[in-house]
This record gives sequence, structure tokens and C-alpha cells, in this order.
Amino acid sequence: MATDLLAQKLAETFDLSDDEFAILLESDSFDGELRRLADNARRSYYGTDVYIRGLIEISNYCRNDCFYCGIRRSNRYVARYRLTKNEILSCCATGYELGYRTFVLQGGEDTFYNDDLICEIVSAIRKLYVDCAITLSLGEKSHQSYKAFFDSGANRYLLRHETASSEHYGKLHPPEMKIDNRKKCLFDLKQIGYQVGAGFMVGSPYQTTQDLIADLRFLQQLEPAMIGIGPFIAHSQTPFQYFKSGSLKLTLRLLSITRLLFPYALIPATTALGTIDPFGRELGILAGANVVMPNLSPLNVRKKYELYDNKNCTGEEAAECRHCINKRINSIGFNLVTLIGNVKKR
Ligand code: SAH
Repeated sequence: MATDLLAQKLAETFDLSDDEFAILLESDSFDGELRRLADNARRSYYGTDVYIRGLIEISNYCRNDCFYCGIRRSNRYVARYRLTKNEILSCCATGYELGYRTFVLQGGEDTFYNDDLICEIVSAIRKLYVDCAITLSLGEKSHQSYKAFFDSGANRYLLRHETASSEHYGKLHPPEMKIDNRKKCLFDLKQIGYQVGAGFMVGSPYQTTQDLIADLRFLQQLEPAMIGIGPFIAHSQTPFQYFKSGSLKLTLRLLSITRLLFPYALIPATTALGTIDPFGRELGILAGANVVMPNLSPLNVRKKYELYDNKNCTGEEAAECRHCINKRINSIGFNLVTLIGNVKKR
């Protein structure tokens, strides 16, 4: 097959061989075509709608020690915090007023929030906001715990697989963390009935083209509703402090390829993308993303949830943030919508 038709082939067949993916991933000559086709694919499912999700960072305590992450347990310089149930509910109230219909509760793996407490918080949100989606992003748990959260009213779960290659996973995580468990969690979540989000960082240390292809293959197996892709950004208090960040170009390329593989998916233009480039989020939408996740955490904790250096949007009030995102999305011809924004079935 002539290589100039690769992007077209991907758009029409929703797949490519490993060799063909490698060609797309390693060249920038397809980027314009990939973006155009991804834009069409996204429009055919979602039009120009962009969904907003309110991100509430409930705790920066973590029992894990991921080498890339600023809130890893070995980082002694982090001022740790956790939000109370009432603080979380107050974030939801602010968010609801501003038009948010999805609340994402994200945090480190903090054992302080045992299953009972998480269920209590989820039930309280569910009772107050029947028309909203509740998304959790609290790391690896047992099937039983995930089921309990689901039964309390959670609908969605974000758990990036980070990298599907077991060898590469071992270079990003301490030995007690295993890709097999991460994958098992994702399949458990799906089986329980969650809309599941997987995903990975682009340009993480030691990542190869083959690793990225393994990520795409894993996504094909899982068929998640949501796919989070953002650049790796070094944090100065981690073992990866001297590694360079993932590139804007490669991240956008992967967003477009992912949109073409999974035209129905919910794909965020991430905060990390907005951090490596002032127009990163807009470029992400133009490359095929259709979700943004502004911060709803209380202002006084924002800086403490620093997964990587210079994380943006840590200084604005929720309302300011909502307004700013609105303007930015409108400026590129898209609309922020106040909708629950469930995944569109294929
Ligand atoms: N404890 C939860 C939430 C993790 S934070 C969990 O395990 O799912 C959410 C995401 O931020 C992670 O999945 C990771 O992909 C991303 N992240 C962490 N450190 C990062 C860094 N240095 N650069 C870019 N993204 C990072």
C-alpha cells in the first residue's frame, strides 16, 4: 500500500498493521491528514460539542511510588492534604451552579478513604445530583470495592494503563506494581458496568514506538469509553526529574490516531497538554479530542496536587476557569455543552 494513503486506510478500516502504525507514528508528514480525518470522525459522532468535567482532587496522599509522579509517596517535600466529605460536596455545589454535570473525584491511592467512606461520599453526591455523572479516579482496587462504589452511584472510572508493555511498565513503576493488575482492574471495571477510561503518557522515559503500538493494541482489546492521553512532564522531585517532556506534536498525532481507531470515544484535551503549550488544549480539540476537565478543587489545595512541574490552572477560581475555557473553546469554533456527556454507543 502506498504510504500516502495510510491515514485514509486507518479512517476507513479502523485498523492498521504494526508496521503501518510505526510509519504513521515516526513521521510528521501525515499530521495534517490525520487531523483532518480525526476532525471528521469526531464531528460525525459528537458534532462540535465539547463536554466539560469538573475535576476534584480529593487527596494527594499516595501509597504508590510511580517514578514519574510528583505526589509519589517518597516525595517528602509535598505538603499533603485530603478533602473532607463536606469540602467535596461544596466543590460539587460550585460546579453544578457553573453547569458541570460530571464530577471527577481523583486522588492518590490514599487508604484513609476506605470503601465505606468512598461509598458514603458517592452516595451523598448521587442523592443531591441525580442528573450528573460521578467519575472516580482513585487507582487500583479490588473487584469488590469497585462494585461497591458502582452500587453507591458511581458511573465512570478513569484508570490510565500508563503503558501496556510489561517491560516498559517496569521502568516507570516500582516492582510491586504490575501491569497485569492494572489491566485486570480495567476489565473488572468494565464488567461491573462502568464507562471505563484507560490511557497513557506520551514521551514517558524509555518509551519506544513499539510501546506506543502496544498501547493502541491494548486499547483495541479493552474498547474503553474514555481515553486519556497527555504528554509526560518531568517533576523536579522525582527520579525522572532530568527527562525531557513528551512533545506536543507526537501527543497530537496520537490523539488523532486514537480518534480514528475509536471514533465514538470520549477523549480529553488534558491539562498536561495545556501545560506544555499555551494553546495545547485547543490544538488537542482540533486534533480530535472532545472533552475538557477544568479544575474544581478548592484554590488552597491546587498547588499541592502537583503531578508534574508548572501544572497550569492552579491559580484561578472555578468560575474564572469555566469562563476562560468557554472563550477558548468558542474561539476555535466548538461549543462547551452543559450535558452529562455519556459515551455514544457504536
Ligand atoms: N492515583 C490515580 C490518579 C493518578 S493521577 C491513578 O492511579 O489512576 C492521573 C494521571 O496523571 C496518571 O494516570 C498519569 O498518567 C498522569 N501523570 C502522573 N504524573 C505525570 C507526569 N509527571 N507527567 C504527565 N502526566 C502525569
